[in-house]
Amino acid sequence: TVSFAGRKGTESERTFIMVKPDGVTRGLVGEIISRFEKRGYKLVAIKSLVPSRQLAEQHYGDLRTRPFFKGLVNYITSGKAPVVAMVWEGRDVIRQSRAMIGATNPLEAVPGTIRHAFSISIGRNVIHGSDSFDSAEKEIGLWFGKPGDLVSWEPVNWNWIMAEN
Ligand code: UDP
Ligand code: MG
Repeated sequence: TVSFAGRKGTESERTFIMVKPDGVTRGLVGEIISRFEKRGYKLVAIKSLVPSRQLAEQHYGDLRTRPFFKGLVNYITSGKAPVVAMVWEGRDVIRQSRAMIGATNPLEAVPGTIRHAFSISIGRNVIHGSDSFDSAEKEIGLWFGKPGDLVSWEPVNWNWIMAEN
């Protein structure tokens, strides 16, 4: 089925990625975008904003009962810096982006991952990425749900670049 997160397991698969306020204030937006671009993924939406409390609470709704929830929402909505919200598209992007991001606790993250490279605090781990097709679907709809928010496109040399033989 065609949806916000594209078609699971195809090149139209999409995920929601967000540079959190600590990543923005530390000047990591370019580096993070660069990693996704260089890997071969396509940017299909991007915006900078200070999220409302309601948006942050909906985004992290599944964590509502966790002890860190209030602090997490305060951090995301503080306005000390905006977040940079994005949608990236491409082959296996949901699973691959989680691998590129690394473990939730940066101290457990594998070298080479974004969280390992740029953070040492679980409460300031720089970046968010959808953890499943269903979360991607929910999160893209929440942040980029209006008609025209997502711009699908194809580089002119796409088929040649993506060849598997
Ligand atoms: N978080 C936190 N303390 C914790 C666990 C999580 O502050 O003990 C924050 C952290 O910013 C994390 C976010 O809550 O990225 C969402 O938690 P989740 O378990 O979904 O981790 P993620 O999917 O971001 O790796
Ligand atoms: Mg999560």
